[in-house]
Amino acid sequence: MLKQPNLTINEQGHLCLGGVDVLTLAKKYGTPLYLLDEDMVRERMGLYVSAMKENFPAGSKPYYASKALCCRELCRWAKEEGMGLDVVSSGELYTALAAGFPAADICFHGNAKTEADIRYAIESGVGLIAADGEEELRRIDRLAGETGVRQDVLLRVTPGIDPHTFAAVNTGVIDVKFGVPIPTGQALDVTKTALALPHIALRGFHCHVGSQIFDADPFCLEADVMTAFLDAVRRETGYTAPVLDLGGGFAVAYEEDQRAPDCAAMIKKVAARLREQCARYEYPLPTVTLEPGRGVVAAAGITLYTVQNVKSVPGGACYVAVDGGMGDNPRYALYGARHSAVIADRAGEPQTERVTLAGRCCESGDLLGEDVPLQEAKAGDTLAVLVTGAYNYSMASHYNRVPRPPMAALRGGVDRLIVRGETLADVAAYDL
Ligand SMILES: *Cc1c(COP(=O)(O)O)cnc(C)c1O
Repeated sequence: MLKQPNLTINEQGHLCLGGVDVLTLAKKYGTPLYLLDEDMVRERMGLYVSAMKENFPAGSKPYYASKALCCRELCRWAKEEGMGLDVVSSGELYTALAAGFPAADICFHGNAKTEADIRYAIESGVGLIAADGEEELRRIDRLAGETGVRQDVLLRVTPGIDPHTFAAVNTGVIDVKFGVPIPTGQALDVTKTALALPHIALRGFHCHVGSQIFDADPFCLEADVMTAFLDAVRRETGYTAPVLDLGGGFAVAYEEDQRAPDCAAMIKKVAARLREQCARYEYPLPTVTLEPGRGVVAAAGITLYTVQNVKSVPGGACYVAVDGGMGDNPRYALYGARHSAVIADRAGEPQTERVTLAGRCCESGDLLGEDVPLQEAKAGDTLAVLVTGAYNYSMASHYNRVPRPPMAALRGGVDRLIVRGETLADVAAYDL
């Protein structure tokens, strides 16, 4: 079983999350059920906040990338733990504001914001909008003008870094839908536009090179490319950027052979590199923001299912079918992302089987994983899929009109619902 300090096995051999027997929770709330270890989420948030405070200039802080898991409670926790918040849609912004999250600490992202999104963001007073390119800058400028404000903006640039080869490469990784490429010279041109627009206050630059980054190297490379770019901008325009956003992407361990990185150590290394590079260019050290999403919530979540049936195809796979699937966790169906699993009733037993975890949807691609190590399973068992805190609930759908599951949080060994489960009436609630 995947090793994590908050996953333990009690005397009855049951899986426990944060010290609580998950079978009691499956009984209380039913399955499927999202569980979230609130203590762990808050601890992770605090860790990013303090690591950034220690290593970067005053005002530097992490923004929680709420797309990983967005609901009102998460926004409240982020606020209480001192994080800023990233949103990428009016829906995420609405959720944050409804939770009482201060607009000034929100950054609005996205590569195709609508006029309605931009207007809502400006009128709400969001601290920053990360503009994705020239057209959007002009749109923000016009809408800010109509509202009578000068909007603080970051320009999203594409540094041309492949986070998984730890290399700066000018092709391929700049050919993406996000941001304006630095290597082609477009980023510098668009910066000039931003500086000339009357209702745009350019605060600096944003970049994000990818996800599941296990090492500080890609972030250090980002610091190199970005400081060289900041220096080039200053030489061409005289503009000095007060803010540098280096994005998110801190990795988590999904499987036994992976090790979650020490994010505080990563942040320390990046800070040292940034100081070095700023000194080299004699550039004033900018305020830094980072945007962890998965790194904050993924490992704190598990999902409980009830095994409905088990069948083996001679010469083929053993299918363990559960009462959920791609509707509550589309990650395997969408991009082959692997998760560990355990039979919560017999968590201490060795995982001697290799199974295909099948979802309930009418779609042969509705799988939660293939070749997944597991105890021998039988109908009625409770299956726990691990590390589901990020990009599960936030990507859930109503496919096959299956209601989306509830989410319960655990704090100090006490459970409570933070998202209620949908009813059949909810599923049909919008039909006319
Ligand atoms: C997705 C994303 C993040 C968060 O990525 P994680 O891998 O969840 O940390 C942060 N910033 C931006 C701009 C993103 O697109």
